[in-house]
Formats: sequence, structure tokens, C-alpha cells
Amino acid sequence: MVEPSYVGEVLFTAEEIQAGIRRLCGELMHTYKDKKFSVVSVLKGAAVFTADLIRQLPGDLKLNFIVVSSYHREQRSSGSITVEYMPPSAEFAGQRILLVDDILDTGMTLSHLQKEILLRGAREVKTCVLLEKRVTRTQPIRPDFRCFFVDNIFVVGYGLDLAERYRNLPFIGVPREATR
Ligand code: 5GP
Ligand code: MG
Repeated sequence: MVEPSYVGEVLFTAEEIQAGIRRLCGELMHTYKDKKFSVVSVLKGAAVFTADLIRQLPGDLKLNFIVVSSYHREQRSSGSITVEYMPPSAEFAGQRILLVDDILDTGMTLSHLQKEILLRGAREVKTCVLLEKRVTRTQPIRPDFRCFFVDNIFVVGYGLDLAERYRNLPFIGVPREATR
């Protein structure tokens, strides 16, 4: 595939991502076995990953979304997250939740949301990310499930944006305009 001029390097091709998701689904089925769980996906970044993931999971799955903003057009975490939308507590009460996000960086987003969902009555919250950055996290959180590790560089594509662009790329890459 010819890389578009705005992508400096492709880290994971569309095929590699799909293979990673198949492997991840195997781990999920092994962990949950016949226990019911419901998926909560963090928009917008996890939209594409979630769409592919849930279609490889068993049929009677429930899906909810949380909307957060954290990056505010920057290439670094802004240090605070804003929850723009959270489903009603009835969606979490007594349930096993699989919280799905695109990428674990400082850990602030997922640790905050994990606490919020538990406060709303979930019996368990496991975390699942497409990418785990190799960084020193500000929050002591490790994902229960991950597809891939990435170095501490800013990546785009497959749902991940740079100032709201590039979410549509079928692969994950490093934008040329990123500062490494
Ligand atoms: P954290 O709260 O763990 O610092 O950051 C998690 C959120 O920051 C992710 O859900 C994602 O939206 C955003 N983020 C972190 N690293 C990157 C990156 O390399 N590229 C993009 N596009 N977003 C990132
Ligand atoms: Mg995000």
C-alpha cells in the first residue's frame, strides 16, 4: 500500500489490526467464558475499534457509549478530562462491564471512568484498549486486555485523531506533522 503523504510511518496495517482483534477476542472469550458482560466504548477514539471488536463477540451483547474530551487539539493529554455524556446508572447496575478505549496513555481517562462506572453500581469493570503506550503512567492502571503496545509517540488512524482528522485511516500511523 502506498502511504499518503501526511503519514510518516505505518505502525499497524489494517490486516495486522484485524489479526490483533481476533487474538484479543480469543482472550476475552477465555476470560469471560459463559459470563455475561456488556461493552462500554469511549467516543470518539474507540468507535472504529469497538465496531470491529463487537462483531466478533457473541450475539446478545449490550453496547453503550461514554463521550469524553481530553486532548483539545493537543498532542499531549491536557491533564483533565471532561465527560460530555454518560449513560444512566441503570445501564451499569449489577453488570460486568468491559470498558473499551483506543489508547492508554497517562491512564487518566480509563482510571477516572472505571471509578465512575463502579460508583454507578457495576459489579466489575475490566479495561480493554487497542493500544498501550510504553510510558510512565500518572495513574496506576494496567489494561486487562490490549491488542498492541506502542512507543511513546503520537499516533493517528483507525479512530484516533489529530485535531479531529485522520480517524478514517484504515491503519495506524505516525502523522508527519507529529513532533517526535
Ligand atoms: P490518557 O487519559 O490515558 O492520558 O489518554 C487517553 C486518551 O488520550 C485516549 O483515549 C486518546 O483519546 C488520547 N490519546 C492518547 N495518546 C494518543 C495518541 O497517540 N494519539 C491520539 N490520536 N490520541 C491519543
Ligand atoms: Mg480517547
